Amino acid sequence: MIPGGQPPQDQEPGSTPTGSTTPVSAAQGNARNGGTPRAGPARQDPPPPDSRPGIVIGRPLGIPVYVSPYWFLIAALFVVFYASSLKGSVHGSTMRYVVAAAFVVLLYLSVLIHELSHCVVARAFGLPVRRILLYPLGGFSEIEQEPQTPAREFLVSGAGPLLSLVLAALGYAVIVTLEPAGIPRILIDQLILANVLVGIFNLLPGLPLDGGRMLRAGVWKLTGKSGTGTIAAAWAGRAIAVALLAVPFGLELSNGNGSGSGTDVVNVLWLGVIAAFIWVGAGQSIRVTRVRERLPGLQARRLARRAIPIPASLPLAEAIRRADAAQARALVIVDHQDTPIAIVNETAVIATPEQRRPWIEAGALARTLDPSLVLSADLSGMALIEAVRRAPASEYLLIEPSGQVFGVLATSDLDHAFAGT
Ligand SMILES: [Zn+2]
Repeated sequence: MIPGGQPPQDQEPGSTPTGSTTPVSAAQGNARNGGTPRAGPARQDPPPPDSRPGIVIGRPLGIPVYVSPYWFLIAALFVVFYASSLKGSVHGSTMRYVVAAAFVVLLYLSVLIHELSHCVVARAFGLPVRRILLYPLGGFSEIEQEPQTPAREFLVSGAGPLLSLVLAALGYAVIVTLEPAGIPRILIDQLILANVLVGIFNLLPGLPLDGGRMLRAGVWKLTGKSGTGTIAAAWAGRAIAVALLAVPFGLELSNGNGSGSGTDVVNVLWLGVIAAFIWVGAGQSIRVTRVRERLPGLQARRLARRAIPIPASLPLAEAIRRADAAQARALVIVDHQDTPIAIVNETAVIATPEQRRPWIEAGALARTLDPSLVLSADLSGMALIEAVRRAPASEYLLIEPSGQVFGVLATSDLDHAFAGT
């Protein structure tokens, strides 16, 4: 297991995968917090506010700590497995379960302390911390903003693994000074091992691990570009994922042992799960960065279609003829005072057979303009995407600050611009 690892958003219960490339889904995957777009990987990429991450089990330092419902199931399984592994060292089955349960609780406490240290450093830099999520595979701190500088990114990321190693050192100090025996000794030994593993594993230099964030900070510092840092660290993460999958085969070869036992299968499965976790997280980081790079190009004014005003009763065929003559690609229905009241839906127009168009009023294919469908022509980037996400529609009316109509924004144009097609 990899306590302390940071699960990508895609694995989060209740959240929708953000694999597609429409601006709306990108907005969900990138800046769910209503903030600015961020290139940072999963830790700064909180789920939508409506998701239910689980049950709050405490609020250390005022930070709510959530566990997912299936966490209890997995934790119980860990207890059972660990109890059976204690058969040689602890007598009595009840005692074995007590010891195993104590170990699992202490283990997740270690994970929590690891996450809290990320949060404390982040807060010291003025970055708001939303919550901590505990997963069977580890913990996840939701910090709502990207650190302002590479140095701060490095410190926020490094704090977790550092504290895990400090906990291991403390355990070692207890053993050396107090020389505990029996069950306390078994527990401390296991905790030292677990914290060393958590600390070292998280220092592997690939996203979404802490070490990957530290690598990202380094590349960011060298190139001056946080996006370049993310891409480099994400590919390093993918390389680590592939290397982890290769580990069992390497061991098999070096042992010259072709007979795989049951334990080998379990280990291979674990490595596979961890490798998949890293691969998905790294991919998520790359995707978020690509999204961010495209955002500045999304400007309502540049994407606008020229529109002509028409009365609702105008036959569709005539409306299309007028639009072609004016080289316009959108039809805005206006009332008697020339005030826009609706936008003709392009999809509905295309779906209307040519021979029927003279007999249909343009107004019949229009969507009434409510205030959320009227956007400023000055909108761009994330603000534009969020405006579109707030009121999903196929067309929007773009107006100048003076109130004058500038044109029509078609969501399909926005999608194309976003996807780079
Ligand atoms: Zn961490």
